[in-house]
Amino acid sequence: MTVKYKEPAPIKDHLNPLESMMERFSVAAEILGLDESTYNALKSPEKSVAVSLPVTMDNGKIEVFEGYRVVHSAKLGPSKGGIRYANSVHIDEVKALAAWMTWKCAIVGIPYGGAKGGIKCDPRKMSQGELERLTRAYTVAMADVFGPEKDIPAPDMGTNPQIMAWIMDEYSKLKGVASPAVVTGKPLVLGGSLGRVEATGRGVMVTARSAMGKLKMNPSKVKAAVQGFGNVGSISAKLLELQGVKIVAISDVSGGYFNDKGIDVEKAIEYVEKNGGTLEGFTEADMISNEELLTLDVEVLVPAALEDQITLKNADKIKAKLIVEGANGPTAANADAILNDKGIMVIPDILANAGGVTVSYFEWVQNRLGYFWTEERVNRRADRIMKQAFEQVFNTSQKYDVNMRIAAYVNAIDKVASTKRIRGSF
Ligand code: GLU
Repeated sequence: MTVKYKEPAPIKDHLNPLESMMERFSVAAEILGLDESTYNALKSPEKSVAVSLPVTMDNGKIEVFEGYRVVHSAKLGPSKGGIRYANSVHIDEVKALAAWMTWKCAIVGIPYGGAKGGIKCDPRKMSQGELERLTRAYTVAMADVFGPEKDIPAPDMGTNPQIMAWIMDEYSKLKGVASPAVVTGKPLVLGGSLGRVEATGRGVMVTARSAMGKLKMNPSKVKAAVQGFGNVGSISAKLLELQGVKIVAISDVSGGYFNDKGIDVEKAIEYVEKNGGTLEGFTEADMISNEELLTLDVEVLVPAALEDQITLKNADKIKAKLIVEGANGPTAANADAILNDKGIMVIPDILANAGGVTVSYFEWVQNRLGYFWTEERVNRRADRIMKQAFEQVFNTSQKYDVNMRIAAYVNAIDKVASTKRIRGSF
């Protein structure tokens, strides 16, 4: 029986990431004619764990932090997904991010389910010692959730290889065995993979290149704006620049920076490294607002910062012909129709930023083999996977006459639903 999931409800002004995820999920479920029990099983996470983490701060006081780990699905393999340290962490957001990980892994065809973790905290205001104690407390609390064959965390917003190293160390001590494969995105000396740091940005570049090909855009005639200059934004900008694209705008929490002649991305990266991690005071460009950056007269826009940046309020003003979502959830679902009507091609997050988890998978494989690959091999294999995933989603979009986002959901949900059916376990 096919059920109508998508209610023709009035367009809501604001959607949280979980509502945005569910909107697209429902459209894709309808296209696939998904039966009701599978729909219900896939929309609910398999496991949601919430913990309170008492941590001794440097001033001697104990502060209690909220921590979460949501396993959306472990049907295609152990669940996989990053851990986010941010003040905005909320259980609904973690649930959406966990489901996105399931769809992402299915799209690139790696044998994982999806999960996500988060701790409500402001890592920029914490000392290294406080971060280490918080991370170890979280690992102890999640010791029975995590596992190399069970659930494998990785970095996300606000976390980094050092934090992954503490997780690996604490988990290995708790279990009494060296367990590098319990977490990915580790420092190289601890069993990290070459190419992992660059992997998400590299995937953004590869999918952007494939999309430019379909749109008959010549990269050397293309101008791009990149929102966010963290790991994903800065590497995406750098690699797109190497393809001949002119990066005319970049941004971070300090604001937006615009130079119509093109920004020297390498210089900007060096500046940030020397300037305490921010673009503040970068003089090679004029300052613009975040809103101006998103609506610049460019061919390509790469939102690689936060969720909910392209919304009902600004979607109509976007001039780019191609949007490549480096961040998770940068476009609210209620903006999809506007972008569609404007004929903008959107490479959705669950495809565009899947290069990160793809190389996480390679890291896990290398850890289990105890044999490490060259960077050239990592990049070659990751590029191949990203290109194939792009083509598969593109073909689905043609087959059902839907946009790339819905096509990506269709491919992912189809795969997860058929695996569920074959396993027969509900
Ligand atoms: N946090 C990244 C993401 O959202 C990477 C996850 C991973 O490597 O497991 O895709």
